[in-house]
Formats: sequence, C-alpha cells, structure tokens
Amino acid sequence: MALFERKSKYIRINPNRSTRPTGKKPEVPDELFARCPSCKNTIYSKDLGEMKVCPKCGYNFRISAHERLALIADEGSFEELFTGLQTSDPLKFPGYREKIAKTQEKTGLDEAVITGTAKISGQKIALGIMDSNFIMASMGTVVGEKITRLFELATKEKLPVVLFTASGGARMQEGIMSLMQMAKVSAAVKRHSNAGLLYLPVLTDPTTGGVTASFAMEGDIILAEPQALIGFAGRRVIEETVRQTLPDDFQKAEFLLAHGFVDAIVKREELRDKISLILKLH
Ligand SMILES: [Zn+2]
Repeated sequence: MALFERKSKYIRINPNRSTRPTGKKPEVPDELFARCPSCKNTIYSKDLGEMKVCPKCGYNFRISAHERLALIADEGSFEELFTGLQTSDPLKFPGYREKIAKTQEKTGLDEAVITGTAKISGQKIALGIMDSNFIMASMGTVVGEKITRLFELATKEKLPVVLFTASGGARMQEGIMSLMQMAKVSAAVKRHSNAGLLYLPVLTDPTTGGVTASFAMEGDIILAEPQALIGFAGRRVIEETVRQTLPDDFQKAEFLLAHGFVDAIVKREELRDKISLILKLH
C-alpha cells in the first residue's frame, strides 16, 4: 500500500481535479465505426460509402432489404406485394410470437423477405429481397409463401425473377413446416422455368442452410457478392463429420465460383448494371 500512496503524491497535482470527472468510460457511438467481418479491420463507417463496401478488402457489408432496394431498383418503381401474411406458430414455440412482434417493430418489416414488382433500367421484374436483420432471414412459412407467390405471379405475367438471398437457413421455431418451404418454393421455381422464364438469384452474405439447399441454387444464372458466406451446414459441423480441416476460404463465394457452384461474383457497385445487362440479353 505504501508504494501506491507514494506514487499518488507525484501524480495528483490537484487532488480536487480528476481526469475522469464522471467516473464513466468514454463512449463511442455504436455506428461510428464498423468492424469488417472479413479482414477484421476497424473501419470508420463513413468510409464504407453508400454501397457499404470495406475499403481495405472489398467485403460487401450486410445491408437491409430497403437499402438494397434503393441500390438496385429504379426509383419509385417498386410495388410491394403479398404483405400482411401472418406468421404462424405451429409448434407453440415458447417466446416465438413475442420475438416476431419485437423484430417487426425493430426492422419495420412484416417478415424476412420483401416481394413485389420493380423496374431495373426500365425493365419490369418480379423482385424479392431477403433481410438478415429479421431473425437471420430464416425461412419460415411466410417467407416460403411470399417467394412462392412471387414466382407464381412472375409465371402468370411472364416476368423474370431477381431474388437476393440471405439466410441462416430454416426457421427452427416452425419445425417441419419451415423445411416444407424448400419443396414448395422449388416447385414454383420449376413451373416458372418450364414457362421459359429467367430466374436470377443473387447470393449475399450469408446464404446458408435450407435456402442454399433449395431456391438459392436453382437459378438459371447464379450471381454472388464478393466474400459472401454460402453453404449448407456450418463449417464446424462439417469438420467434425469429415474429420478434416477445411481450407480458409471454404464456403466463400470465391471458393464456390472456382468449384462451379456460382456463375459470377459481381461487386456491389457493378451489380445493377450487370443485372440490367443479363435481363436485356434474355
Ligand atoms: Zn475488410
């Protein structure tokens, strides 16, 4: 103790003055800095720009469905459809209804996907955008139903479908009902395809689980954003099952491109033009 007392004699010039008057830690606003999940650098949020791309490594940060809409569709062209579907709770899962209500309030979305028609460079499309802020965009009955209706509308009106996928997989709170969505959406995708129409999924970070195992991989041309995580089971589960260490870039968009699962990786700033070109060609 004597040591500490002696030390304080030199430091405290004015004992009434403290360097931390409130005793609180200095606070940094949450959104001032962002940590890049890919290169782990701390980035000043403003440096991410409108596109929300890491200036150090080019990782495309996760964005909300409405931010995506603003980047992709012609201004004011989006007509939202199939809203107001009620999320069901078939298993009476504890706390599920409360979780949905809370997430709806927080995100302003009714479910994890927005669907409707829009225009890209004047070309009309059926557009779906999943939003990972809504329970990790897990696929429950409403997500499946909205995407199915989107494909049915597109088939009827002879429209191409552009679908931005992002998902943690099936929604476990809805059990088997969520898994059934994989078959339901896939059947609608097939009918749309049989009508000779174009389906263009864009895989964004993260696209995993039942979404990857169904409609995310059923596109005519599959695009992905740089460094997006795309896979079915998680890395640790696979490593434990096959008892092998997987490569670092396993389940990254670049790895999938090299192995033929993805047709092209498109930078976010070029995505709108690229989609527009593909639509024109078809
Ligand atoms: Zn980065």
